[in-house]
Amino acid sequence: MFAPHPDDAELGAGGAIVKAVDEGLAVGIIDLTTGEMGSLGNKETRINEADKAKKNLGVKIRENLGFPDANLPFEDKKKTILFVASKIREYQPKVVLIPYWEDRHPDHSTTSDIVTKACHYAKLKKVELDHPRYKVNHMIYYELNGQFSPSYILDISQEFERKKEAIMTYKSQFKEFSKEYLPFPVYERCRFYGSLILADFGEAFFLKNPIALKDWKIFF
Ligand SMILES: [Zn+2]
Repeated sequence: MFAPHPDDAELGAGGAIVKAVDEGLAVGIIDLTTGEMGSLGNKETRINEADKAKKNLGVKIRENLGFPDANLPFEDKKKTILFVASKIREYQPKVVLIPYWEDRHPDHSTTSDIVTKACHYAKLKKVELDHPRYKVNHMIYYELNGQFSPSYILDISQEFERKKEAIMTYKSQFKEFSKEYLPFPVYERCRFYGSLILADFGEAFFLKNPIALKDWKIFF
């Protein structure tokens, strides 16, 4: 999973991360920046908070690429994309979670573009990097500030409290779990998506490609 700033992974897909870890899947989070340009906290506090969240969530890998916050893409866009592509080849994720491209925060939309292109470059034979070519099975987009019509909604009713705890690890950013302090209304959004699937809480995801169904069992 890729995120622009520490805390974005938890805000956008914390429930999905908890569920994946509980299901025994190997989960890794790569943050592109340390969020050092944010009004609250600094580079050190934000890295420490992300490390704490990593332990709480039980994810295997959490890496920060240290690109400059509020200044993505770093220097040369192609270089940045290739660097991310090399990470994809190194870790070989079957599924990559990416922030949705329509977002009022420029770092969020730029991260979406960089990671989408990096997944493409990772599979190209003629792109020579430190690791051999690798094809990601699915690129799945998650919401931060933006909104889409979801391809699917994950029931995170059982995981919501742990998502909330993971978000509150970022003490430099959020004094309380409320609309006043969060960058967008996480509680209300999860309640809304949950209501669409008759669950208490849900997280929405978007796929550019449809998922193939092999039979009708999913509907029964
Ligand atoms: Zn962010």
